[in-house]
Amino acid sequence: MSFVLNRSLDVGLAVMAECSREKCRFVADTMLGELARWLRILGYDTLYSRVYSDNQLLNIASRTGRILLTRDKGLYYRARKKGVRTVYIEFDSIEWRLAELRAKLGLKLEADPSKSRCPECNAPLVKVEDKWKVKDRVPPGAWEAYDVFYLCPRCGRVYWEGGHWRNIRRIVEESERLAGEIAVARGKTGRPGRGDRRGGRAPSQAREGER
Ligand SMILES: [Zn+2]
Repeated sequence: MSFVLNRSLDVGLAVMAECSREKCRFVADTMLGELARWLRILGYDTLYSRVYSDNQLLNIASRTGRILLTRDKGLYYRARKKGVRTVYIEFDSIEWRLAELRAKLGLKLEADPSKSRCPECNAPLVKVEDKWKVKDRVPPGAWEAYDVFYLCPRCGRVYWEGGHWRNIRRIVEESERLAGEIAVARGKTGRPGRGDRRGGRAPSQAREGER
C-alpha cells in the first residue's frame, strides 16, 4: 500500500523513545471517538467527549499535560502555537491510526486486558476476584466459559477476554507492522532498532531537528 504523509504537520513534534501507559495521557477531539476507545482498551488514559469544544480541548490539554489528538488542522496549529503537545491524525482506519501514534510518539502497543481501561468511561478496570459476584451481570454462556472478569468501578460494566480479544490482538500486530512502513516513509525508524525487525527496511538516518 502506498501513502503520502504530510510532513509539514510533523515539524517540531518531539519524538519520545517510548510512550508508555504511565508517561502518556491523551485527550481526543470529537472526531476521534473510535481511537479514544481503542487507546482505553490498550490501557491509555484518554479523555473524550462528543461535546468538547475546541477551547475546552486546548484547556484540558494545557492544564493536564495530556497530548491532544486531533483531525482538525486548525485546532492542531492553535495547539502548537500555545505550546500544547498535539498529534494531527492523518489516517482513517484504526490500524493505521494506532500505527501512526506508534511511529510518531513511540506509543507502546500492547493488548493486555488486565491493564485495560473501560472503553466507555476511561476508568481503570479491576479484576473480579470471585466470578460469582458478576454472575447476574454477564451472559450465562460467557460466565460459564470464562474464569477471569474485569469490572469498571465507575460505570459498572463487566468485561472478559472473549473472542473479540483475538481481533484486538490481530489489529495491534497489524499496527506494529504498519508503524514500520510509516517510519520508513518519514525517513527514520521512530525508535532505534525498530526498523530492523521489519525486514531490514530501517532508513539510514533520522531527520534533522527531531532528536
Ligand atoms: Zn466504565
